[in-house]
Amino acid sequence: MSAKKGQRNTLSLDEYAAGVAQGDRATLARAITLIESSRQEHQALAQELLQRLLASTGNAIRVGITGVPGVGKSTLIDQLGSNLTEAGHKVAVLAVDTSSERSGGSILGDKTRMPRLAQDDNAFIRPSPTSGTLGGVTKTTRETMALCEAAGFDVLLIETVGVGQSETAVAGMVDFFLVLMLPGAGDELQGIKKGVIEIADMIAVTKTDGDNVERAQLAASEYRAAFQILTPVSPNWSPPVITVSARENSGIGNLWDMIEQHRTKFTKSGELKAKRQDQAVRWMHDMLEERLRARLRADKAVSRRMSELENEVRLGKVAPTLAVEDIVELIGLNPAAKKPQ
Ligand code: GDP
Repeated sequence: MSAKKGQRNTLSLDEYAAGVAQGDRATLARAITLIESSRQEHQALAQELLQRLLASTGNAIRVGITGVPGVGKSTLIDQLGSNLTEAGHKVAVLAVDTSSERSGGSILGDKTRMPRLAQDDNAFIRPSPTSGTLGGVTKTTRETMALCEAAGFDVLLIETVGVGQSETAVAGMVDFFLVLMLPGAGDELQGIKKGVIEIADMIAVTKTDGDNVERAQLAASEYRAAFQILTPVSPNWSPPVITVSARENSGIGNLWDMIEQHRTKFTKSGELKAKRQDQAVRWMHDMLEERLRARLRADKAVSRRMSELENEVRLGKVAPTLAVEDIVELIGLNPAAKKPQ
C-alpha cells in the first residue's frame, strides 16, 4: 500500500460530510482536494457532498480582497484575520499563492506569508491550486467557500492578485469587495484600472505608517475624488476610502466596522439576499458552461473535427461562423434541426 496510514485516497460520503460538519480541518482540506480533482468519480462524490451540506452553507461574511503584488495583502490578512479570531470568529482564507509559481510548493509559501494565521487554530488557509487559475480564482473557489461555511467558518477572505478578469470573478462571488491601494498618488492613480474602482465596495490605502502617512492621506483623497464622479451601485452605500497600517494594526478595526456596516445595511435593504441569489444563478451558469466545455474536450470526434476546423479557419478557408455551425451540428445542438412551430 503506497498511501500513508489512515490516508486513503478518498473517504466515504458520510465520512466527508461528518468531518466537515464537525469543523475538522484535515477533512475539510481533503474535501477541497476532492472538489479540485478532475477525476469523474471524485467530481460526482464532491457534488453529492456539496448537496448534502447545502443547508449549512451561506452563513459567513464573504469578503474579496485584491491589490497588486506588494500592496500588503498577506500582511493585512494576517493581521485582520488574527484580530477576528481573537474576537471569536473562525476565519478561512482562500489565498492566492504567489510563491507556488516559483517554488512549486504552496503550503510553505502561505505559512510564511501569513505566519500568525497559519498557526491559529481558528483559521484555515487554503492556497489556490495553480492549475487553471485566473489570478488565484479557480472554478472551484465557490465550492471551496461553501465547504468552509459548512465547516463553521463565519468569515471568508478571498484573496486575488490584481490581474484583469480575476477581480471581476471574485467580486461576483462575495458580499463585499475590498480593494487595497499603495500609498502615493499621481502615478499610482494613473495606473489604476477604472474597472476596479467601479466594483470596489471600499478602498483601503495600505502602509499608512512612518514616512508614508502623508502620501497615504493624499492618495486617499484622490481616490475619494475618483469615487465622486461615479454613481454608486447602491443608494445605500457610498464606497468609503480609508487608510490602514497592517504593520501597526491601525485602521484595521475601522476596516472591519465598515464591512459590518455594509452587511447590516444590505441585510436590511434585502440587497444582500438579492446579490446572493444572483450569484447562485451565475454559479449555476458558470458550472454548466464549464461542464459543457469539458464534455466537448472529451468527445474525440468533436475534438478531431475542432482541430481540422481550426486549421481551415486559420487559413481562411472556412468562415468562423460556418465552423461553429459544423460543430453545433456534430454535437446535435443545431437549432435549425428543430424549427419552432
Ligand atoms: P502582498 O504581495 O500584497 O501580499 O504584500 P505583502 O503583505 O507581502 O507586503 C509587501 C511588503 O510590504 C512587505 O515587505 C511588507 O513587510 C510590507 N508591508 C505590508 N504591510 C505593511 C504596512 O502596514 N506598513 C509597512 N510600512 N509595510 C508593510
